[in-house]
Amino acid sequence: MSRYMSPKYSDLKPYVPGEQPRERSYIKLNTNESPFPPSPRAQEYAQKAAQSLQLYSDPDCTEITKKIAELYGMKPTQVLFGNGSDEVLFLAFMCFCDANTPAVFPDITYGFYKVFAQFLSVPYTQIPLQDDFTVNPQEYRNTGKTVFIANPNAPTGHYLGLDAIEEIVKSNPDNVVVIDEAYIDFGGQSAVSLIDRYDNLLVTQTFSKSRSLAGGRLGMIFGNEALIADLRMAKYSINPYNVNSMTMAAGLGALLDEEYTRENCKKIVENRQCTTMELKKLGFTVLNSNTNFILAGHHRISGADLYKALKEKGILVRYFDTPRLKPFVRITIGTRQEMESLTSAVCKILEEYI
Ligand code: PMP
Repeated sequence: MSRYMSPKYSDLKPYVPGEQPRERSYIKLNTNESPFPPSPRAQEYAQKAAQSLQLYSDPDCTEITKKIAELYGMKPTQVLFGNGSDEVLFLAFMCFCDANTPAVFPDITYGFYKVFAQFLSVPYTQIPLQDDFTVNPQEYRNTGKTVFIANPNAPTGHYLGLDAIEEIVKSNPDNVVVIDEAYIDFGGQSAVSLIDRYDNLLVTQTFSKSRSLAGGRLGMIFGNEALIADLRMAKYSINPYNVNSMTMAAGLGALLDEEYTRENCKKIVENRQCTTMELKKLGFTVLNSNTNFILAGHHRISGADLYKALKEKGILVRYFDTPRLKPFVRITIGTRQEMESLTSAVCKILEEYI
């Protein structure tokens, strides 16, 4: 830290993104990206938009906002786009948390919540997951805090039913509840259907996973018009052109190719079920997942050692060096072929590992 940096950041530990190695090619199952390319129209529209990059992008994201509102059955004023869902989550922390309104989220969840809270000097509470790594919805009633819940959760993959989410929203009427649905397209009912009934509910989603646009950086937040107007005010105070023209065009193309997205999600779910079964046969504990990844652990090998052994065999997964997650690796679900390579590599590693 230079001597000019504000001391308020002296203890900040930034988010650590998953590896994006350039030195060799890996079977990349470490950052929950899609193994499939962006849809044909997403690619075509982005290329076309490249021809007008001398112009600023549309700060209102007019066309894509209209399209998503139509697809999701809401008003355009109930949605705001951002540079990945990371950005709209950050806007929510900025707008709806402060010294008097702390944040609350599970102790094992998306790592950025803690970083955002620390960066903004927002006090926060972390509620431990239960012994089976699930979120207990009862513990999120009447919190008096701004609630952040990833549903399905990461890196566990656990999904809370819509009834449980509604209970949480209903029991915190004076606080905003943010449901992060980055993985909802791989299994689960979206809480978007509740936004007309609750003025304290916000739901975030992303184009990074099911729509194969992680590198485009496109995410959105849905909610009551007044909440969205607050977030828009914040966006226009920082970076009105937060979504670039090529990404906006790619996103619109992806929305016009919804069938392609649905097909890909179906393949991921099938591959997830197959891989889970294969790993269980090898003696792994695999948590139930409604996402495009699984958390799997084996009593004979630590997460870190399995990660290292797989990397040597050209397969990247992710491990977390924390007490409860140490025994596990998080494996992104790829193509059928990639998952077959993974399971046969794991099989060999277990044979050789003493
Ligand atoms: N929420 C969760 C739970 C995630 O795992 C991720 C992806 N790392 C995000 C939000 C952010 O995704 P993006 O910014 O790519 O939309």
